[in-house]
Parts: sequence; structure tokens; C-alpha cells
Amino acid sequence: MTWSIEPTLPEGWELVVGLEVHVELATATKLFCGCANQFGNEPNTNVCPVCLGLPGSLPVINGTAVKYAMQLGRALRCDVKPGIMARKNYFYPDMPKDYQTTQYDQPTNSNGSLVLPDGFVVGIERAHIEEDTGKSTHVGGGGRINDAVYSLVDYNRAGVPLVEIVSDPCLDTIEHAKAYVSGLRDILLAIGVSDARMEEGSMRVDANVSVRPAGTTELRTRCELKNINSIRSMGRAIEYEALRQIDLYTSGDNPRQETRHWDEAAGRSTAGRSKENLDDYRFFQEPDLVPLVPTAEEIAAIDAAMPALPSARRAALMEASGSDAEVVATLVDRGQDTMAIAAIDRGADAAKVVTRLQHDLAVDDFSKVTAESFAELIIMESAGDLTATQAKQVLAEMVDSGGHPREIAEARGFEAMEGDELSGLVDQLIADNPGEWQRFVDGDEGDRKKMQGFFTGQIMRATKGQADGRAVAELLAQRSAG
Ligand code: ZN
Ligand code: MN
Repeated sequence: MTWSIEPTLPEGWELVVGLEVHVELATATKLFCGCANQFGNEPNTNVCPVCLGLPGSLPVINGTAVKYAMQLGRALRCDVKPGIMARKNYFYPDMPKDYQTTQYDQPTNSNGSLVLPDGFVVGIERAHIEEDTGKSTHVGGGGRINDAVYSLVDYNRAGVPLVEIVSDPCLDTIEHAKAYVSGLRDILLAIGVSDARMEEGSMRVDANVSVRPAGTTELRTRCELKNINSIRSMGRAIEYEALRQIDLYTSGDNPRQETRHWDEAAGRSTAGRSKENLDDYRFFQEPDLVPLVPTAEEIAAIDAAMPALPSARRAALMEASGSDAEVVATLVDRGQDTMAIAAIDRGADAAKVVTRLQHDLAVDDFSKVTAESFAELIIMESAGDLTATQAKQVLAEMVDSGGHPREIAEARGFEAMEGDELSGLVDQLIADNPGEWQRFVDGDEGDRKKMQGFFTGQIMRATKGQADGRAVAELLAQRSAG
């Protein structure tokens, strides 16, 4: 996002990143059998002939998984079309069938987009349905297969339903890549189809990274980064890779297309296999499954049940409050947008609503504060019934114990100071501090500011914070002009 500090590439180069994000769907059972879809169980306990790929076993597709995938597709503004399952043939020890059942040229979801908080639109090429593989653990050596003493395979994950979301190679900065992944996670959590935990592997990111001379549009050779465990780690991996490629080009060499493994502890990536071409996979339509053909009614029902998504919530708050994108994103992240809009609708001043939420309600639990009482607080502050300091104190009490702002203010003896009383106090202070007053009247801008702070501080001390800072400033300005 534009407001973050951006690690910069050397002058004259630009970054091109496309992300492939695998998301495990939170179904009760696997994609083609009735085995439990559960993380952390005893190895090889959630298995059956289907997900072990035993000869003669036949898949039956999980209707909930297909529905979740279509929900995700609609949330990502995709076209949801008839999908065809296909076999992707390759050998991998944790994939017992020796092919992965996935979608190839007819994915269920295609042609979508995701809007980042700063307005940048990430194109989404496709979001297809596929099964997960099992999990290998290489024992001994560095945890890699090359120097392992032996390897263990757990098939509990084999056949778990996934959606693979493929973005366009359009991410131009590390910040945009990070914002995209966290935006995806927010959407997954909002619609409830995945728990999207990168640390448990239910959301896994592969980054395709290339660089090119700034201003050119060609796509150069890319490397695919794997083994990324967090959004932060993705940022480091992309930066490392971009700099590595620029180094190669600058020294007259070229990167080669390959998979690279990110080593978070070492802060660098190492070369893996050189990437297969599409031909190597010998895709063909899965003969044991019929095409997935959604009806217009199914899609309409999904749209009708769709909750408000973060980008729409940001747009609504921006419209209601007129605040800038960064503040709006913060409030939506904290789940305070509904309260803000409700308070504004009740007549509370929009700018004050946003300021109080942003600075004085930055707490984990604000469940005791209702939109109604919050609106009332802001209205009291705007009307001058409470000073800014008092409003903050009342709000703090509302967070701790709920309650109505008018009652809290009364119980604390917060009554607005009468104007006469305040102006009398100001005159008294001016008389008591002639030197400071002279500096306020004759001084340069810095002096004037300093002395304004001095007088305001004195008044606040004398009134125990009950005076309205703005009224004090007005009185000081009046006296010095007159
Ligand atoms: Zn099974
Ligand atoms: Mn995949």
C-alpha cells in the first residue's frame, strides 16, 4: 500500500510478481471420499482406499467443497462456469495416485479481481478446485530429501479439498503482494470457507517473481518461490529473489526458470527442480467424474447469501465519513466500520467519529460500547457538553463497563464550564503571567505556539481538564487581538 515504507529495487528495475495461493477448504470430509478433513491427527488415520489411490476405488465429489469453491469464486468477482476435473500426471511420493485430480482448461472460477485498500486492483486469472497431496517428512540432515536418512509419509492430507487462486503477474511491489495475501485471507475468513492459517499450511503461497527494466512490458524468466510460511517471510523472499535476478542480469547472465526454496532462517533461497512445462503433466479429463455444472439458481443463492466483503465495507465507510484510505482500512480491519457508519447516521460528526475510533478506541474488546451510546458521546462532544479530554475519559469508562455517556459524565461531575467562568480564568492567568503573555502577543510563530501551550496547560490544570481547549485558544486569540 502506498503509505508503507517500500523496500526499493535498484534504480531502473521493476518487480513483476504473480501469486499462486493454495487454500484448504474447511469441509468436514475430503474432496472425493468420506475421510475426515482434519489437521493434526495421528498420521495415516484419516485414510481409505480412495484417498490412498488403491486400484478400483472410485471418487465421489464433495458437494460442500464445490459450493465453498463457488462462494470463493463469487467473492473474488470471478465468472463461475461449468468446471471439468482433470488428471495432472506426475510422480511425487506423497501423492499416492501418481496424478493429482485438479482442473485444467475449464476451471470453475476464472477472470476475477480483488481490490486492495489503496484502490489497486489485482486481476485473478482463475481459482480452480483440486485435491491436496499427503505430507512427507524427511528425517536426518537438514530436513530436505537430499541429505535425509529416511522419509515418512502421512496421507491424512491426501485428498483434502483445495482451491488454487492464481493472480495475474500484476503485483508491482512487495507491499501490494502482502496486501493481496492479507486481503485474500480476510475474504476467506469473512465467507467462512477456510481458516486460512499460513502457519498450519491451510493457506500456502507460491510466488512467481521476475524483474524487468523499468518502463518495459515484457515478462522475463520467472522463478517460483516455495516454502513461504508467513506474509512477512513472503516479503523477504520476494525481495531476495528480485535482487538475485537483477544481480544476474547486471553481470551479463540470465536467471533460469526454476523452483526455489525459501529458507527463512538463512534469509535466502536455494535452487530446486527446474520447472516442468505444461506438456510434462499430460493433462486429460478425469473419466471417473462428471462435469460440475452450477445452475443459475445456485449462483444467485450464493450471491444473495454473500456477507459484506472488506472492499465493499471500506467503500461504504469512505463514502459515509470522507476519510482517507489508510484510516478507513484500519477501522475496517478492527471491525469498527459498522459502529462508525451507525454513529454518523445518527447525526454524529463524521470527522470526530473517525478520530475517536482511530485514536481512542484502539482496543481489542469494544463490545460494551454500543453504536447508540458512541454516537451520543460524539454528539455531546460536538455540542460542547464535554471537552475532548472529558470525552476520552467517558469513552474509556464505556469500554470498561458499558453504560450511557450522559450518565457517566454526570456521575463524574463533568459539566461544561460556563463561558464567563472560563474567560475570567483566562484574564486572571494573563494578569499573573505578564512575561509569557508578552511572548504570546509579540513573539514569532514558534513562541506563540509555545505560549499557547503554556496557557492552555495552566487552564487545564486549574479546571482539572474541564475547560474546552478550543474555547481557550479562541479566548487567547481574542485577547491578543483586542
Ligand atoms: Zn479417504
Ligand atoms: Mn495447485
